[in-house]
Amino acid sequence: MLCAALLVGGTGCRGAPDARTRFPNGNAATGPAPLADTAADTARPASPPPKAAMLDSGTVALPDSQRRALLKKDSLWQKALRVHYRALVFDGHADTPTLMAEEGYDIGPRHAPAEAHLDLPRMKEGGLDAVFFSIYVPSYLGEGRRASARARRLIRTTKQQLEKHSGRAALATSAEEVRRLARNGKRAVLLGLEGGHALAASEDTLRALARQGVRYVTLTHIGTTSWADAATDTPRHGGLAPKGEDLVRAMNDAGVLVDLSHASDSTFYDALAVSRAPVILSHSSARALTPEARNVTDDMLRALAENNGLVMINFYDEYVEQPGGGPAALEDVLDHLDHAAQVAGVEHVGLGSDFDGVPRLPAGLGDATRLPWLTYGLLKRGYTAEEVYKILGGNALRVLEAAESRAAKPERDDSVAAARRR
Ligand SMILES: [Zn+2]
Repeated sequence: MLCAALLVGGTGCRGAPDARTRFPNGNAATGPAPLADTAADTARPASPPPKAAMLDSGTVALPDSQRRALLKKDSLWQKALRVHYRALVFDGHADTPTLMAEEGYDIGPRHAPAEAHLDLPRMKEGGLDAVFFSIYVPSYLGEGRRASARARRLIRTTKQQLEKHSGRAALATSAEEVRRLARNGKRAVLLGLEGGHALAASEDTLRALARQGVRYVTLTHIGTTSWADAATDTPRHGGLAPKGEDLVRAMNDAGVLVDLSHASDSTFYDALAVSRAPVILSHSSARALTPEARNVTDDMLRALAENNGLVMINFYDEYVEQPGGGPAALEDVLDHLDHAAQVAGVEHVGLGSDFDGVPRLPAGLGDATRLPWLTYGLLKRGYTAEEVYKILGGNALRVLEAAESRAAKPERDDSVAAARRR
């Protein structure tokens, strides 16, 4: 469909900054030559993807029989497979470390979707090159030692797993490291702290976690903290308290992305006003389609575009199911990606699966092996290969780089920030 919002009676697409013509049937005519029948031949695309999304070998990792069946079904799969496996695919949020810490989950062997959504063999099969692992700290642990101990434990467990499987995966702390690992055919794992309460309201704790490799912090989880209101709790500060503003600036200085998933709308706007680097929502969807407090409004999407930030669409069925639309399916996730791209612009949309953190996923998107179907769906809706590369991972690399360069030159930006504060 051309505009998801119109179907549910919204107006988000009209006059959107990225409003543009769609070519629902254009891909087959302009797409590259058909895929050859062997995986080796698929490594040479007709037109290389942009440098921003460079890349692994491009080998299609789907089982051969499945690949043949897809090609038989629709010739667009030729292009979809080529684009998907050449892309650097980057997921903003998976809760796998909690499984590792609580159930001894091992990402080395392949597991069934009913057991978990992600492991190294299924990441490879689904073409998933990089993922932010959530260092999730429950709100009930409060803002003291128990919370920071929990964060350190999950980081330790994740690093032990990566050490155990060092031939196939490694920790990444920069966009360049992500690219290098992907080029070498290894999975890149980044660390994101889910729950700013684990900072114990301390900039020193933030910097210590950054040294451990943490590259984003969600300001809150489900509960309001002593310095930030959460989306799903009683507001206490009307958004971000002064201490929260200091912590956002400290995140900018430390090269840690400010993650506004779980934050209240007021906290979102306050953080945008303070942050001197692009912000992200590592796992949130569009409220115009699914009215949930955890999703972002169209106004927030437009503000995010101004900030050069990124919303990574959550796959959780409750956050993408549309009123009157029946049980959530992969098409709903495509609707959310489409809507966010229409309102914020294609440069500001990514993937934030919430794999291993949610009880149910939409039909057709049951685990990491299903990601190529999103690429197919985006191409089917008229997105160009270049746009798909951005959504799949190019945008995530861009914001990571922006956070890095902001941290590398804090002095100049601080004087700008100070001038604006006066
Ligand atoms: Zn979450």
